[in-house]
Amino acid sequence: MADSADTGDLTALINRMKSASAPLRETLQELHARLRGVHDGEVATYIPELARANPDWFAISVVSVDGRVVEVGDFQQPFSIQSVSKPFVFGQALEDHGREAVLSRVNVEPTGEAFNSIVLDERTNRPFNPLVNSGAIATADLIRGQDFPERLTRLLALFSRFIGRPVHVDNAVFLSERATGHRNRAMAHLMLNFGMIGERVEETLELYFQQCALVVTCHDLAVMGATLANAGVNPMTGERAISAGFVKDVLSVMLSCGMYDSAGEWAFRVGLPAKSGVSGGIVAVVPGQFGIGVFSPRLDPKGNSGRGIRALEELSQRFGMHVFEAGFGGRTLRDELGRG
Ligand code: GLU
Repeated sequence: MADSADTGDLTALINRMKSASAPLRETLQELHARLRGVHDGEVATYIPELARANPDWFAISVVSVDGRVVEVGDFQQPFSIQSVSKPFVFGQALEDHGREAVLSRVNVEPTGEAFNSIVLDERTNRPFNPLVNSGAIATADLIRGQDFPERLTRLLALFSRFIGRPVHVDNAVFLSERATGHRNRAMAHLMLNFGMIGERVEETLELYFQQCALVVTCHDLAVMGATLANAGVNPMTGERAISAGFVKDVLSVMLSCGMYDSAGEWAFRVGLPAKSGVSGGIVAVVPGQFGIGVFSPRLDPKGNSGRGIRALEELSQRFGMHVFEAGFGGRTLRDELGRG
């Protein structure tokens, strides 16, 4: 076991990770086997294509900042990323325009309301944060490019850097989402009315629907999380996905706004920057240490994967990963990876 003096020492961490990660695998296997028995919640159906998901899919993936991978279950099952995409696109908007320009279009306040609520800040007309639909559409509007193909290419390149391979969009999900996205369209036009987004509103919606329909696996989510944990450098490829200076901005909104209208309770109980999506994925970040991906399509009433929430809650508590207790002793996930 590592002692607490090792905490934060990357070299020690990397050396320990070279030894077996079997204990963590066993922990994840046990958790996976137990939580497979949880059948609470429903698969999202408001986007018709999402209803085709197998409710029993379930995966947990952990990727460390030195590229060590431990994962169990259906971690190679493709699914559409949905709202898990939002913090990453926020990061790209920050890259494209800088902090203050982005904040003039989208705030960073939790709403306490549903992800698709049609509500803007009364005083400034800004959407509340980049992780609700209105804010995500405003953020997508900020993706630079001469024309739609260039903007889409840049968006795909962003996710390729985070994931470490070329990415593509699930056309059936995209079309399903576009055909039924009246509420998102209404929100976009409301924001156009207030000058929060530009005239190319249809194009921006198209970009947003494409972004949501991007195909990922649970493994990918963990790599994306590990890239944020690793100050913006993808640990599998060594490629920088986002400037180090914007990582804390992205993680801050994930901590305060990432889990729909249970973000406050999430910060209290789990205390990890995270983002969930209606297809059942969650990405969580243990800064400086790990990315964790969890995937299971049954959603609780707030829209978060039921098994996913439980898995992350247990992992956080068991290993003391809450960002405000991390490193204060106890048995850490890092210790677990190094045992054996
Ligand atoms: N594409 C979805 C929508 O706009 C994203 C929802 C989500 O994952 O929260 O409704």
